[in-house]
Amino acid sequence: MAEKIYSIKINEAFSKKCGCPICSLQSLLEEEEIERILGAAMMEPDTRKETNRKGFCKKHLEILSQSGNKLPMALMLSTHIEELEDRLFKKDIKRNSAAYGEARKSCYVCGRMKLFMHRVLDNICYLYSSDEAFRKLFGEQEYFCETHSARLLEMAEKTLSKKERAAFNDALNQCNRTYLETLKEDLDWFCKKFDYRYAKEDWKNSKDSIERTVKYLG
Ligand SMILES: [Zn+2]
Ligand SMILES: [Zn+2]
Repeated sequence: MAEKIYSIKINEAFSKKCGCPICSLQSLLEEEEIERILGAAMMEPDTRKETNRKGFCKKHLEILSQSGNKLPMALMLSTHIEELEDRLFKKDIKRNSAAYGEARKSCYVCGRMKLFMHRVLDNICYLYSSDEAFRKLFGEQEYFCETHSARLLEMAEKTLSKKERAAFNDALNQCNRTYLETLKEDLDWFCKKFDYRYAKEDWKNSKDSIERTVKYLG
């Protein structure tokens, strides 16, 4: 079933026409989730049970601990450690290694983000097939980063009709091809600037070409 609950946020992110719209949606949803966890959700038994069980990855521990909400963070960590104490410290080294491995790889926020992003991609494909204005907006994006291009195409293959799939694929390629050409031009000019013959020339748009390329590829 197509998920429609993200339509407004998707339209807002796509309307910016700047950078990968899905990266920007992902950051927004992550921020909202972090706020939720350290806010009211911290007292919800269901959420608390899950954060106790799953814990957090390094990245999300850092984000959570930098949020400034120290009390909810400390309470959450304390009950998570309690639960860890029940699960770790196996006598048998093989079982102990598996228990530590399991604890290390699970993250409550990553799990939630995976679910959200699946719904977002599904929702994008739904909008693409049902909303003419969105189809136009889709083709006007600056680019879709490599990771999100792969995930979008995967979802489109599963959910769109044959005709829609071809148009979706063309639109995505068109955005990314134009962007990659720009990146290449800017990188080439950046390299030329190291040649003494071009030293006095303007940098044009090339100064942040490495950063922009990393953002696309990352
Ligand atoms: Zn992206
Ligand atoms: Zn995580």
